[in-house]
Amino acid sequence: MDSSTTNDSVQSDTAAKNEAFKLLSDETRLELLEALWEAYDPTDPSPMRFADLRERVSADDPGQVHYHLDKLTEHFVRHTEEGYKLRESGKRIVRILLSGTALDDPEIEPVEVDMSCPYCGGQTLYSYRDGWRYLECTDCDVRCVPSFPPGVITMSEFPPSGLRDRTPTEIGDADWLWRTHRRASVIDGVCPECAGNMAITSIHICDDHQPDWEEYQFCENCKSIFRMLVSHLCEQCKYRWSMPISNYLTGEPAVTAFYYEHEIEFDYSTPDQFSLLLDVEKELLSEDPLRIRLTIPLEGEELSLTFDDQMDVISTERNG
Ligand SMILES: [Zn+2]
Ligand SMILES: [Zn+2]
Ligand SMILES: [Zn+2]
Repeated sequence: MDSSTTNDSVQSDTAAKNEAFKLLSDETRLELLEALWEAYDPTDPSPMRFADLRERVSADDPGQVHYHLDKLTEHFVRHTEEGYKLRESGKRIVRILLSGTALDDPEIEPVEVDMSCPYCGGQTLYSYRDGWRYLECTDCDVRCVPSFPPGVITMSEFPPSGLRDRTPTEIGDADWLWRTHRRASVIDGVCPECAGNMAITSIHICDDHQPDWEEYQFCENCKSIFRMLVSHLCEQCKYRWSMPISNYLTGEPAVTAFYYEHEIEFDYSTPDQFSLLLDVEKELLSEDPLRIRLTIPLEGEELSLTFDDQMDVISTERNG
């Protein structure tokens, strides 16, 4: 790409970002967005007339209301002959605000849930704090990725709006599904936050992997129980995701078929399917070019898939 084009687009990106932040730093504009959101009916998205909008905001001066509406039409609102309505970007902004503030700084004290630790079979605890949903084991100090504190089986940035009207077990189920779909998007290279490109930035392979399986803890060298971790980073919004390499088996038709023949519906929709992936054998076949073989052993049979440095499958083999 030509560098002047890159600079221009970076500068205009920054300007657009500043502009978008500024747009939302005014009370009348937020009131207008709120009024448009409340009037928005997904089954009948007809626009709102200026007179109706004016009644819904605290500013009296019609000139002021017009001025702020004009500002909003640059990014978040569409103005047609019939009136005003939210653009998709405006709906997205309101949805983000609603998902984050549905409950005030919600917290759920650790509570026992109906799921055993996939590593040691121990009792698990579910909790929610600082916008993160935690699933922790009370019996082991497993460490899945280096950024997780010991004992944390999974943690995810589940939106507060997902807590409403759900029991902890239901929250756990909803979070699992939500994360499974988001993870699939990451695996396919599309950011689940902003739809930007989310390429693989590293495949970390521990040279001397010695997880302390006796204690179900982690390897001192890589600070994880998983020998191979793949990381993705979004080029646009800096969203990052690291995951054990065996997750790349989840969308493969050969894998789904293999499990299906063994009467297992493998769609990764429940946490017990995660336990299946713990049996996967990982082999580094070559470093340059990178070739990694993942093998699923099941009832005396084996399915092996070989991946390249982009985690694309280059061959599939079946034995037994
Ligand atoms: Zn455990
Ligand atoms: Zn290691
Ligand atoms: Zn992104």
